[in-house]
Formats: sequence, C-alpha cells, structure tokens
Amino acid sequence: MASRKLLLLPGDGIGPEAMTEVKKLIAAMNADLGAGFETEEGLVGGSAYDAHGKAISEEDMAKAMAADAVLFGAVGGPKWDGVPYDVRPEAGLLRLRKDLELFANLRPAICYPALAASSSLKPDVVEGLDILILRELTGGVYFGEPKEITDLGNGQKRAVDTQVYDTFEIERIASVAFELARTRGNKVCSMEKHNVMKSGVLWKEVVTETHKAKYQDVELTHMLADAGGMQLVRWPKQFDVILTDNLFGDMLSDVAAMLTGSLGMLPSASLGAPDPVSGKRKALYEPVHGSAPDIAGQGIANPIAMIASFAMCLRYSFNMIEEADRLEKAIAEVLNDGLRTPDIMSEGMTKIGTAQMGDAIIAKFRAL
Ligand code: NAD
Repeated sequence: MASRKLLLLPGDGIGPEAMTEVKKLIAAMNADLGAGFETEEGLVGGSAYDAHGKAISEEDMAKAMAADAVLFGAVGGPKWDGVPYDVRPEAGLLRLRKDLELFANLRPAICYPALAASSSLKPDVVEGLDILILRELTGGVYFGEPKEITDLGNGQKRAVDTQVYDTFEIERIASVAFELARTRGNKVCSMEKHNVMKSGVLWKEVVTETHKAKYQDVELTHMLADAGGMQLVRWPKQFDVILTDNLFGDMLSDVAAMLTGSLGMLPSASLGAPDPVSGKRKALYEPVHGSAPDIAGQGIANPIAMIASFAMCLRYSFNMIEEADRLEKAIAEVLNDGLRTPDIMSEGMTKIGTAQMGDAIIAKFRAL
C-alpha cells in the first residue's frame, strides 16, 4: 500500500470545521481504496499563538517540511487582532510559503452549472467556466528592495516599492504554466505590462524563450495585464491558464474568483520546485476564504472550498487524477441535486449545514 504523508493544519474559526469534512473523506478513501494516507495534525495561526506564543511552532514547521503535502484551513480572528505583528496569525502562513519555497500559486476559477445564476455576470458568460490563474508568489514588488518610506525633509515623504524579477524566477513559473496547460486545455496566456515596465519586457522575453525551448506544443499568447482584467469579465471562457506575476496575479485571481459566485467554493494550491532526486514538489493546499469569525462554530460553513483544495492535492501531489476528477464531479452533482449551505442558498434549494454537505459529497464520491 502506498504511503502518502499529509500534514493537516486546520487553524482558526471555520478552518477546523471545514477540515473535519476532509478528514472524513480521507478515512473513506483509506477504507475503500487503500489510499494509504497517513495524517499528522498541527497548529497554525491564532490557535498556535495561544499554545506556543508563535504563529507556527518549529516542531510543526518540521512536520510540514517532511510531509508530501500540507492541507491548510484558515487563520485569524478578532481574538488575535492585538497580538504583536511578527506572531500575528497570518505570519504562520507566510512562514510556510517562504520555508517551503512555494513560488507557484494556482487558483482555479470553476463555475459549476448549478451556481451560474449566483455570479454577478450573466449566466451564459460564466456557466461551465474552468480557468486557472497561475500567480508567481515569492518575487516581484511585494518583496523587492528597496521598500521604504523616506522623509524628504520639505514636508514631503517618498514611498518606494521595487518590482524585480530575475530570469530564473520567470523561467520556473512559466514552466509550471506550460506543464499545467498540457493537463488541461493546452493554452497559456501570459499577462504583464511590457509597454510601461522593464520587468514586463523581461517577463515577456523569458516566457517566449521558455516556450520556444521546451513547450512549443502548447499555445502561447500574451496580453497586457489591464486588458487581461477587462477580458476576464467580458468573456472569461477564452482563457485556459493565465500566467502572471505576484502583483497582477493578486488582482486578477480575485477578479476571477468573483466570476464563480461564492468565496466558500474556491480552492487553491501553492507549489514549490520539484526535488532533484525524488521529483516531488513541496505543496500546500488551502481554501481562498478566511476564518469567517462571523459564522464560526455554527456548523453552517461551506466545506466545498476545503474539499476542492483536497481534490487539487490528489491531482498535483499524488497524481491521483481519476480520484480528483471523481471528487470534483461529486461536488458538481451534489449541487445539481439542490443541496446548498446558507452562503450559496437560493429559492427552491435544500439548505444544509457543513457536516451534511461533507457527508453528501462523500456519499456521491463513493457511489460514482
Ligand atoms: P473571510 O473569507 O473569512 O469571510 C468573508 C465573508 O465570507 C464572511 O461573511 C464569511 O462568513 C463568508 N465566508 C467565507 N468563507 C466561507 C465559507 N466557507 N462558508 C460560508 N461563508 C464563508 O474574510 P474576512 O472576514 O475578511 O476575514 C476573517 C479573518 O480571516 C480575518 O482574521 C482575516 O485576516 C482572516 N483571513 C485569513 C485567510 C487565510 O487564512 N488564508 C484569508 C483571508 C482572511
């Protein structure tokens, strides 16, 4: 039986509630399929701060480094608003991203047919949408130096952020984009601002060279990031994989998220470079939503984003493609059956809670 090591970091608020549903699914897959998942659990965010005075302990960081994949719930909440900046709940997530060198952030925007009416766009624009935004996560303007505010001494201040990318950073994220495209619709659209930014000029050049060297079978197009934002809301189905940097990716992935309706539906993955010996990538999977303190503890959180994040884990960390497809299909069918948590509830549908939604998806997964 294969051994697959998972570290579960449920975190705060609705994080543990959503993670409970994934734990049930893991148990079902181990029992039915001999999937061989071995899980360990750790603390992150406010819960880690309460236990250790840190947003994640060294022991749990070591577990994360040793795991095949990390499943992360959500962190934060008003209880920890006043804690020192370097141990705030989000610091746990940033430390994981940094130490695991997770440079590639994958955010699919999938619009389930049953939910097309809850998007702010017209149903025919979003129905059946299935695109992937690939954002560079560890470079660019959020990290470039200098990054400072200086006093000019004349009543004025100057703020500087530095957008900086080296060739290798663009090459490795572009390679991930082309490889992902090969498993989907085989198209990559790279977005930057080469008309006004030197980093955009280099980005376009390196993406083009990487494509020419190794990935000519994939269709590559380029678009200015502002035009890309416009096209995303005009006709998003024209895209397959969108490749972009940290800053533009932050914005474009949020725009794409809203195409699909609810925050409770959106999964994500962050991947590192493949290990030169084992070929395995470090990886962390998490829902896009936060800890939702306003509904925590009520048993009404939507667990679909967390369950769909686990589907991404099956696909990208364990190459369990058939199981990932089956799980995504189970989610779609449960929605077709009219089951809804309150955040996606609409007239004529059946309102259920977190545990019932998890149970319904697992039952469907088993039956398919
Ligand atoms: P949020 O995503 O937690 O919630 C926004 C709104 O969406 C709330 O009304 C919430 O009830 C709803 N919502 C979110 N997920 C849901 C789900 N699965 N089911 C049903 N409804 C859902 O964002 P926020 O309110 O801005 O932040 C709350 C806390 O979460 C803050 O402390 C913030 O710092 C933190 N946060 C953490 C992460 C993370 O862990 N990656 C991400 C974003 C925000």
